[in-house]
Amino acid sequence: MLVVGKNSNLAGTRYHKMIMKDTYRHKGLRRRLIGELQKKGISDERVLEAMGALPRHFFLDKAFEEWAYEDKPFPIGSEQTISQPYTVAYMSSLLDVQPREKVLEIGTGSGYQAAILALMGGRVYTVERHESLYLKAKEMLHSLNMNNIRCFHRDGFKGLPEFAPFNKIMVTAGAPEVPDALRQQLAIGGVMVIPVGKTAQKMYRIERIDETHYDEKEMGDFRFVPFLKGLEKK
Ligand code: SAH
Repeated sequence: MLVVGKNSNLAGTRYHKMIMKDTYRHKGLRRRLIGELQKKGISDERVLEAMGALPRHFFLDKAFEEWAYEDKPFPIGSEQTISQPYTVAYMSSLLDVQPREKVLEIGTGSGYQAAILALMGGRVYTVERHESLYLKAKEMLHSLNMNNIRCFHRDGFKGLPEFAPFNKIMVTAGAPEVPDALRQQLAIGGVMVIPVGKTAQKMYRIERIDETHYDEKEMGDFRFVPFLKGLEKK
């Protein structure tokens, strides 16, 4: 089951109350982007369908709309970026979220990745350390009626112990190491996708085998903004 399409969460949203418009032109650009992702090796239908349904330009400032359907990262304020669509597609494919699974995302940023995970059917908990980004993403996701996402202004190093265990965990900032708290909050049989490294990162797919064992696979090279400790106020 995929919650995109006619009966999707995006149907009957509150777009009309806002200035946001998803025009034929946007839809055309989005289709082209999906084609580009397929050429680059993304084949997970559920990921492609979710990314084809979600207007990425809603998550960028109006002035940068033109850039929304390029396969590039883009500044979203507070020195942070919305990840490159290829990276979102790659990580979402690795995470392979199934309907109703409990998913923790660290690094809400614009909220785009959280929305993709929710459109794949996840019950998403997303954490951001920058208060201004947290507030903006929360408002955007609310205006899209994405009720299966809960936003938190917290330090992601600690995860969300009160909602653990999670079936899936995704970290969208470059972590110096895999935080212990996140390992602990992963359900047995659960999967975490996390880019690890200080200046450049290697993507890891970590599966929890039992209480004490984790199967770790190194997947490829990526570049992310850093995973930082502590909270930022506005
Ligand atoms: N997933 C985002 C991309 C975010 S970039 C999107 O789809 O737009 C990474 C984000 O991680 C930034 O917003 C950064 O502020 C946040 N971040 C970095 N360290 C963090 C921490 N310790 N806890 C929570 N968020 C963190």
